[in-house]
Amino acid sequence: MATAIAVAAPIVGTPGTAHAAVPGVAQNYSKLMYRSLTVDATKAALRKTLTVQKAALKTRTTEVTAATRADAAARKKLADVTTAHAAVHERLKTAERGLSDTKNRLARAKKQRPRSKKAVTSATKAVTSATATRDARRKRLHEAATVLRAAKAQARTAATGLQKAAAVRQAAAAAIPKTEQRIATAGTAAGFAAQATTLSRDVVTEIRPKFALADTTTVYGTTVHRNVAYAFKRMVDDARADGVAISGGGFRTKQRQVELRKINGCPDVWTAPASSCRVPTAIPGRSLHELGLAVDVTSDGKTLTKKTKAFKWLSANAAKYGYVNLPSEAWHWSITGG
Ligand SMILES: [Zn+2]
Repeated sequence: MATAIAVAAPIVGTPGTAHAAVPGVAQNYSKLMYRSLTVDATKAALRKTLTVQKAALKTRTTEVTAATRADAAARKKLADVTTAHAAVHERLKTAERGLSDTKNRLARAKKQRPRSKKAVTSATKAVTSATATRDARRKRLHEAATVLRAAKAQARTAATGLQKAAAVRQAAAAAIPKTEQRIATAGTAAGFAAQATTLSRDVVTEIRPKFALADTTTVYGTTVHRNVAYAFKRMVDDARADGVAISGGGFRTKQRQVELRKINGCPDVWTAPASSCRVPTAIPGRSLHELGLAVDVTSDGKTLTKKTKAFKWLSANAAKYGYVNLPSEAWHWSITGG
């Protein structure tokens, strides 16, 4: 069974709000009809999600490309800075050796006897100069170390950024086949409706002995069983969208059925077949109207005939909503056709 996704909040007779006393088969029927009537919207929503996910993957891929570039640049920078730092360090070592040499020279000049004042002065100057060079290179090494620390931090940031971008892209890529799978397994409206139809007679059998008025609800003034309310409402709405007004008498009590047997000229109330009445009228206790599972359809206040636009619309579309016509009565539509 495919995964069902709630697309829009249903208004009436939804499986979720079905009456607790409603039997299982009727509930399954209702769920199948609900799925049938929402699966296209569900799939459309999933396709929209898929489009968004594909666009996101494109964006994420671009981000990975940019992060890869930033990472490579940061690595290159770090390599350059490391080389520069080593060179500065080497120059400092040279300066330190130079300073050491000049100090030795000064010490030798001071020890020399007779002492050469000129040599001492020259060596002293050399020490001063070498000290200044050493200090300047020390300062440069300090600066180079600061630059190196910054480059290392930048390289770490770039590497983390690349790792994150790759993970985000991977998640975006993984979401796509999941959505595609959900679309592929969502099922079809016709498939769910066909499944529901196979249950319709069992629905009647189950509902009849347990029926209570509380199991009905009113849709645009027509009282129907809760388990067909969503489908009936969708049928009325979709017909209206096609320019066809549908209304009618749904539920009626057994008492009213008894009255109708008399009004419609049946030979007797309890035994004569429906077809023997002036207007076909089921024996009380057998009518699907008494369960809210049949509707005598009117259009613009008039009872349906086979020539009406509403009858033609229903003939083409009612099955989608689980409604079947009783051939001898153009106006009578129920979940079994009975
Ligand atoms: Zn009827």
